[in-house]
Amino acid sequence: MKALIHTAPLKLEYRDVPDPLFGDDEVLVRVKAVAICGSDVHGYTGSTGRRIPPIIMGHEAGGIVEAIGRNVQNAAAGDRITFDSTVFCNQCPACRQGRVNLCANRKVLGVSTPAFHRDGAMAEYVVVPWWIIYRLPDAVSFEEAALIEPASVGLHAARITPVDVNDVVAVVGAGQIGLFAMQGARVKGAGKIVVLDVKEERLALARKLGADLTINPTSTDVTAEMQRVIGRPEADAVLEAVGTETTVTLALSLTKQGGDATLIGNVTPRIQVSLQDIVLRELTIRGSCAVAGEYRAALDLIASGRIQAKPMISRVMPLSKGQEAFDALHRGEPGLMKIVLQP
Ligand SMILES: [Zn+2]
Ligand SMILES: [Zn+2]
Repeated sequence: MKALIHTAPLKLEYRDVPDPLFGDDEVLVRVKAVAICGSDVHGYTGSTGRRIPPIIMGHEAGGIVEAIGRNVQNAAAGDRITFDSTVFCNQCPACRQGRVNLCANRKVLGVSTPAFHRDGAMAEYVVVPWWIIYRLPDAVSFEEAALIEPASVGLHAARITPVDVNDVVAVVGAGQIGLFAMQGARVKGAGKIVVLDVKEERLALARKLGADLTINPTSTDVTAEMQRVIGRPEADAVLEAVGTETTVTLALSLTKQGGDATLIGNVTPRIQVSLQDIVLRELTIRGSCAVAGEYRAALDLIASGRIQAKPMISRVMPLSKGQEAFDALHRGEPGLMKIVLQP
C-alpha cells in the first residue's frame, strides 16, 4: 500500500510499504479521509517525543471496512466507519467504568513513544480493534468523519461541564476544539456563548458557527464588553481550549463566583494561577481529556446539523501531497484550520 511515512524531523515520505496484517479482533480499514491534527504538526517537528520516526501518523479518519478478523461481529466488509483515536484495552478498571479515555493501557493511533508504536491512518489501510469503530450515518461524509475526533473531544468537555438551560458560557480559544466545545455547550442549552481568541479570522468562524459574542482580549476589555453586550461581566461556565498561563488566567477571571472552569488545553506544562481567585470565589476546576464514548453522539449531532464540522475544513488534498500540507500548517498559513488528506 501507499503510505505517508514520517521519517525524520520535518520530513515525510510518500511511498510503498507492505499491507498491514490484522488479527482476530481487528478490522482492516480502507482509509478515505484522514485529517492532520495539531499534535501531528507539533509531532513531526520532532520536539514532542511522541512521533518517533519511522511512523505512519493519523488518528482522525473515516473509511470503509475492507476485511475483518474472525472475532469481529460489529462490522462487515463495505461498512462506512470511523474510529476512536485512542486504542483502549477494554479490560482495565477505567475501561470497565466507561472512562476509556483514562485507560491504563491506552495507545494512540499514529503515535510512537519509547513505550509504544502504533501506525495510523495516513495510508491506504489502517488496522484497528473492533471495539473502537463506529458506523457512519449516511448524512456524514468521510471528510466530516475525519473531524469526529476533535468534535468528540469538544463534546466531551462540554458534556462533563455543568451547563444549565440559558447559562452564559465562555470559550477561551477558537481553534477546532474550542469551536466544537462551543457547539457542544449550545447543544446542552447554553443561552449566550462568548468566544475569545486573538485571531480575528477564528472569531469570524466562531460567529458563523453560532457564537453570540466574540472578543479579542488583546484589543478589547473583556468584562466591560460582556457587561455591555450580554448584561453580565462573567460566565456561569468557562471552557479553556488553549492551555497557557495567560489564557487560563483569563478563563478563571471570567468564571463567576461558584462557577465551573473546564481545562482542555495544555500547551504549557506548568503555569502559575492565583489561588485566592480560585479558593475565595469557590470555583470548580476540572480537566477534560480526549473522548469517553462521545463518538456516537458527535456523529448523530453532525448528521442532524446541530454540530457543524464542514466549515472547519480549510483544504482537502491528496495524501501524496502530505509534506506540502504539513509544511503549510507548520508555517501557520493564515486562515488554515484543518487539512484533510485523501489516500
Ligand atoms: Zn488529534
Ligand atoms: Zn483499559
